[in-house]
Amino acid sequence: MASHIVGYPRMGPKRELKFALESFWDGKSTADDLQKVAAELRSSIWKQMASAGIKYIPSNTFSYYDQVLDTTAMLGAVPPRYNWNGGEIGFDVYFSMARGNASVPAMEMTKWFDTNYHFIVPELGPHVKFSYASHKAVTEYKEAKALGVDTVPVLIGPVSYLLLSKPAKGVEKTFSLLSLLGKILPIYKEVIAELKAAGATWIQIDEPTLVMDLEAYKLQAFTEAYAELESSLSGLNVLIETYFADIPAEAFKVLTCLKGVAGFGFDLVRGTQTIELIKSGFPAGKYLFAGVVDGRNIWANDLTSSLTTLTTLEAIVGKDKLVVSTSCSLLHTAVDLVNETKLDKELKSWFAFAAQKIIEVDALAKALDGKKDEAFFAANAAAQASRKCSPRVTNEAVQKAAAALRGSDHRRATNVSARLDAQQKKLNLPVLPTTTIGSFPQTLELRRVRREVKAKKISEEEYTNAIKEEIRKVVKLQEDLDIDVLVHGEPERNDMVEYFGEQLSGFAFTVNGWVQSYGSRCVKPPIIFGDVSRPTPMTVFWSTLAQSMTSRPMKGMLTGPVTILNWSFVRNDQPRFETCYQIALAIKDEVEDLEKSGINVIQIDEAALREGLPLRKSEQAFYLDWAVHSFRITNCGVQDTTQIHTHMCYSNFNDIIHSIIDMDADVITIENSRSDEKLLSVFREGVKYGAGIGPGVYDIHSPRIPSTEEIADRVNKMLAVLETNILWVNPDCGLKTRKYSEVKPALKNMVAAAKLLRTQL
Ligand code: GLN
Ligand code: ZN
Repeated sequence: MASHIVGYPRMGPKRELKFALESFWDGKSTADDLQKVAAELRSSIWKQMASAGIKYIPSNTFSYYDQVLDTTAMLGAVPPRYNWNGGEIGFDVYFSMARGNASVPAMEMTKWFDTNYHFIVPELGPHVKFSYASHKAVTEYKEAKALGVDTVPVLIGPVSYLLLSKPAKGVEKTFSLLSLLGKILPIYKEVIAELKAAGATWIQIDEPTLVMDLEAYKLQAFTEAYAELESSLSGLNVLIETYFADIPAEAFKVLTCLKGVAGFGFDLVRGTQTIELIKSGFPAGKYLFAGVVDGRNIWANDLTSSLTTLTTLEAIVGKDKLVVSTSCSLLHTAVDLVNETKLDKELKSWFAFAAQKIIEVDALAKALDGKKDEAFFAANAAAQASRKCSPRVTNEAVQKAAAALRGSDHRRATNVSARLDAQQKKLNLPVLPTTTIGSFPQTLELRRVRREVKAKKISEEEYTNAIKEEIRKVVKLQEDLDIDVLVHGEPERNDMVEYFGEQLSGFAFTVNGWVQSYGSRCVKPPIIFGDVSRPTPMTVFWSTLAQSMTSRPMKGMLTGPVTILNWSFVRNDQPRFETCYQIALAIKDEVEDLEKSGINVIQIDEAALREGLPLRKSEQAFYLDWAVHSFRITNCGVQDTTQIHTHMCYSNFNDIIHSIIDMDADVITIENSRSDEKLLSVFREGVKYGAGIGPGVYDIHSPRIPSTEEIADRVNKMLAVLETNILWVNPDCGLKTRKYSEVKPALKNMVAAAKLLRTQL
C-alpha cells in the first residue's frame, strides 16, 4: 500500500522563506542567500517525507512566490511590459511580475479557488510567444534525486492553467484562452521529456478546475490536451490530481477516460459524493489516489473512520492500485505542531499540521498493508474520544440556542426605507454623508504598545491610556476634517478576526500556525474548537469611550459571523452553518449591548462573505442562505433608529447581489475603486436597491492621493445610477495600512468633493 502527498507548505516551520524573501527584496541579502534558505527548506521537507515512509513525494511544489507564476515562467508567458529578452527567467523578471518594480506594476493576483491563497493571474493573448523559459521542475527533481529522494514532479496542468488565465490588456474579452492549448502543449512535451530523461517515473499534473461546473467545450479541452500529450507521456506514470470539491459526474467521466493517464487523485474530504462516482465506475487497472487526510484544516484525522473508507475503496480498485493521500496540497494548513509552545496538551492532541499529516498518511497506508501501528492508532482514537466529550467543546446552552435558529427566519420588523427615515430623524445627516470603514493608520508606536502589554512590559493602565490618546487623536482628526459619521480607528485591534476570537470562548490561537496568503504574506487563522459564546462585552468600552469624545455619531465596529468563520480554521465535527449561527448569537449580544450603551450606528463587517461561496453551483444557494441568515441574526433585535452598516471587500458581487440585498443592512460600504463599471452595472440593469450604499470613492490599497475633482467625478457617475438620498461617500476599505501623510489629504479631498456635490444637487 502506497502513500502520497499532493504538495507541501514552502514557507518553513517558522516562516524562514518569508524572512529570506523580504530581506532579499530589501537588498539586505543576496540571491545566493535566498537560494540557500530555499534549498535547505526543500531538502528538509523531502527528507522528512522520505523518512516518514511516504512513497510518492512531490517536488516542484516549492515556489519563491506562486506555483501559477512558476508555470507562467516555465511557458515563457512574460507580459511585454517586463522587458524580458528571452533566456532562462531569473529573479528580476520573476519578482517584477509578482510584485511590480519602479516602472511597471505587478501582474494581477486573485484567489486560488475557495482558499485564502492568491495566485498571479497569467495574462495571455493571441500574440504570446511561448517558450520553455524556466527549468525549475527538472532542476528540483534532480536536486531531490541528488539528495537520494526520488520524487514525483508536480506541474499545473495545461487546461487548468489556461482556464485560470485572463486575456491580456487590449485583447478582446471574448478571446478564447483555450485556443492557446496547441501553443503550450509543445512546451509541456519538452518539460516531460526532460523529466523522463532525468529519471522521473511518475509525474503529477494538477487539474483542479475539473471540480468546477465546466461547460462541455471546456471538458472537451481536457480530452484533446491529453490525447495530444499521450505519446510523450508514454513510459511515465501520470497522476491527474483534482481537489477542493466533489468532481461533477460529467467531469469524472471525462477525467477517467483521459489517454495516457495512470492514476487519478480526488479530494474525499470536501468531496463527500465522489466516493459514489468511484463505486459506480472506476476504470480497471488505474491507480486511485484517495485524499482522505484534510489539507485545508488542522484537525487530526479520524484514522479509524478513514481506514473504513479506504477499505471500501480497496475492494473497488484492488490492493495494489489504492494510494493513501491528502485531500489537496498541505499548502493550505499550518506547518508543524511541534512549534506550538502555548497550546495545552489536550488541544494539541486534537490537531495535526502538515508535518503530522504526513505521519497520518503513512500510518494509514501501513495499516492497510497489515502493519498497523497499534499505539499510534490507539492514541489517535483516545484523542478523537476526548474531543467528542470534552466539556471545553460543548456548551449545552449554546447548542440549544443555535439549534433553535435553524429553519426559522430573523428579520428586523420594519422595512429598510421606514428604518432609514427613523434613523435620519435621530442622526440628522446631510445628503451624501461621509464616513470611513473603520481602521485608521496602525503606527509603529501602536504596534509597540500592543506588543508590550501582551508581554506584560507595560501595565494595563498604561496601555489603556495610550489607546485612549490614539482614539482622541483620531476623533479630533475626523471632526477637523468634518466627517459626518465617525469611527474610533480600531487602534486596539491587531486583526479584525483575532481580536474577537481572543474574547470569545471556543477559540484557540497558535504561535506559528501560519498559512501562506500570497508571496511572503502569511495569515494565522484562529482555531474554532468549541461552542462559541461571548462571556463579556468586547467593544463596548472603547466604542462608548470614543462616543463620549464627540457629539457626532460614532460607529460601533464589529466583525460579522461569516467573516469570523471564513477566516478561521473551523471545527469539523458539526456543519459550518452550526458554528456560524453560534458566532452570530455572540455578535448579536454585542450589538445589543452597544445599542444599550448609546451607540446608534453599528457596522458589522462581512469582508469575507463571498469567500465562503462553495465552488460547486449546486451548493451555493444553501451557503448564501445560512450566511445571510447569520448576518441578520446579529441585528434583527435592534430598534428602527439604530443604523446597521456592513462592509464588503470586493466589488465582484454581481452574481450574489440578491443575497446582499437580503442581508437587509441599512447601509453597505463596498470596495469599488478598481472597477466602477462592474459594480454600477448591476444597478444600471435595474436591480432595485433601497438601502444606503457607499461604493468606495478611492483606492486605499495605493499610496496615491486622489484629487477632489477625481472623487467628485466618480460620485457623479454613481449618482447617475443611484438615488441621491441613499448614496454615502467613503474610501473603499479600512485605512490601517496607510500613512497619516496619505490619509489626511485623501480624506480632506473626499469631504471637499461631498460638499461640492451637495451644492450642486
Ligand atoms: N473595519 C475594518 C477596517 O477598517 C474592515 C477591514 C476589511 O474590510 N478587511 O480595517
Ligand atoms: Zn474592506
